[in-house]
Amino acid sequence: MKKTCSICSDFQDKEYSFQKYGSDVNNTYLPANAKKLVMIKNIKPGSNRLKQLKQCPECKTYYLYETDYEYFALGSEDEEFLTRLTEEEALEIVHASNT
Ligand SMILES: [Zn+2]
Repeated sequence: MKKTCSICSDFQDKEYSFQKYGSDVNNTYLPANAKKLVMIKNIKPGSNRLKQLKQCPECKTYYLYETDYEYFALGSEDEEFLTRLTEEEALEIVHASNT
């Protein structure tokens, strides 16, 4: 039986959010508990498009957290992606060398 996690059991396998600056319309956000995930590895250090391996501190589930950013003069756009990983996928990232 899979136990229910108080932090991330409500997450979808893929979460997505989109925010446009200067507009409250159609903005979406990741679940509030996504902030409680702990970063295990920063896959793209120094990039303003984040790619990070994160882990739930309660149930130890791994997630890939990515952001994208588009600059527009009339309001830049931010996207966030949170994808649940299998342990194998996460370990591949942990063991991959930084490029
Ligand atoms: Zn969890």
